[in-house]
Amino acid sequence: MGNPKAAETAAILRMLPSTDELLNSGTAARLVGEAGQTRLTSLSRRAIESVRKDIVDDISKGPVQPSAHSRAALLAKSERRLLRLWKADRSTALRRVINATGVVVHTNLGRAPLASQAVEAVAMAARYCTLEYDLGSGKRGKRGAYVENLLANITGAEAALVVNNCAAAAFAVLTVFAKGGETIVSRGELVEIGGDFRVPDVLAQSGSVLREVGTTNRTKLSDYEKAIGENTKIILRVHPSNYRIVGFTESPTLRDLSGLARRKGVLLYEDAGSGALVDLTPFGLGDEPLISRSIADGADIVTFSGDKLLGGCQAGLIVGRRDLIEQIRKHPLYRALRVDKLAYAALEATLELYARGVAQDNVPVLQMLSMDREGVGRRVDMLVGRLQGKIVADVEISVIDGESVVGGGSAPTVRRETQLIAIRDGRRSAEEIERRLRDSEAGTPVIARIEQDRVLIDLRTVDESDDTKLGELLIAALS
Ligand SMILES: *Cc1c(COP(=O)(O)O)cnc(C)c1O
Repeated sequence: MGNPKAAETAAILRMLPSTDELLNSGTAARLVGEAGQTRLTSLSRRAIESVRKDIVDDISKGPVQPSAHSRAALLAKSERRLLRLWKADRSTALRRVINATGVVVHTNLGRAPLASQAVEAVAMAARYCTLEYDLGSGKRGKRGAYVENLLANITGAEAALVVNNCAAAAFAVLTVFAKGGETIVSRGELVEIGGDFRVPDVLAQSGSVLREVGTTNRTKLSDYEKAIGENTKIILRVHPSNYRIVGFTESPTLRDLSGLARRKGVLLYEDAGSGALVDLTPFGLGDEPLISRSIADGADIVTFSGDKLLGGCQAGLIVGRRDLIEQIRKHPLYRALRVDKLAYAALEATLELYARGVAQDNVPVLQMLSMDREGVGRRVDMLVGRLQGKIVADVEISVIDGESVVGGGSAPTVRRETQLIAIRDGRRSAEEIERRLRDSEAGTPVIARIEQDRVLIDLRTVDESDDTKLGELLIAALS
């Protein structure tokens, strides 16, 4: 005689649907078009397996009668499980969201939103386009030439090159010019940015030997000078983007470093991180290296990101001396790090806005940064006005003063005064409201933040054309 409990368990488990039965169910029929047969089969197996596990768990907790289960009930349960697994799977796909966090360059939400001109350019280039084709001659053209000219023009550099991101740009520069030699970096600039970019690690990967100089808070020109030896290839200056050393500090100017580099016959390379193509001092971002100034001050090479404060797509932009840029272009590494036509399209359209002097009014990152407290306040008042009478009495909506942050590995200490919509609901916790906003299955998910048991909505990072839609989503989530 076997164990009676084991016999019971086996009897119940025999009533589980087979994969084929689940695949023939109404739920599977509804999902197959979207999911495809192969994915649906694997999800069905997982659904049945998870129901099986539930049954075994239940039995281990106490006696369960086989009669408490039926084939029909287990099939229905497996269908529900299948639907849930499919939704969980789908929710990891890219989706547009409304960023109501007030973090302008939000790493988790795709950093910079593109200008509408850049969005159109990307859609255009998604078809066949003249990536490496010259319409004039009907022959092969030079990839990226237009963007490179724009970059050189805007920054005053002799030449430019585009790679996949700023980390790739730094890696390329250090590999091409400092492999097997030494790179001098101030101890105050050995930073980690955005979790994955660590200056010492990038240097090690490139095959260059790190030569640290100075101290965390103070490094003098003479520290650099003393460290320069036969093997020195590069003086590297890193903008410590998401980190600030304040108080008793000192570091030489880029111009001083440039003089030193020239005298000693080594290269001066600045990793500007975000960098700025226009002066961002009015927005509290005067610390961001202005790329044209770095070039004018004598940096041989400067690298920066395409999707931080520049407001374009992910890319690493390299500008500087023509002979150096050409060396990078000819290096095999460039072929591995180059960008695709979509990135060129986005960058062309974005950089054209800078070249025409209209970036401020068209590049979303700059528009968002330039909005003052009153500008945000006007939109807040309109939106709150639209909520009047549509929200139940349990919900308390107020307007409070607060701060938006720049974020995204660029200037996290910089804050802009803003006005926030603060939401409290007598029936639900702040976490529950935040989840409902994020969940909105049919509409666009809204990403908000929580502070002191209130959900806060910051319109600074919401596209103005989305204000009406956001109002409707708020009403739905608070109903
Ligand atoms: C952000 C940053 C990087 C990395 O840029 P990605 O474009 O994210 O690769 C490198 N260096 C500095 C100084 C940065 O601020």
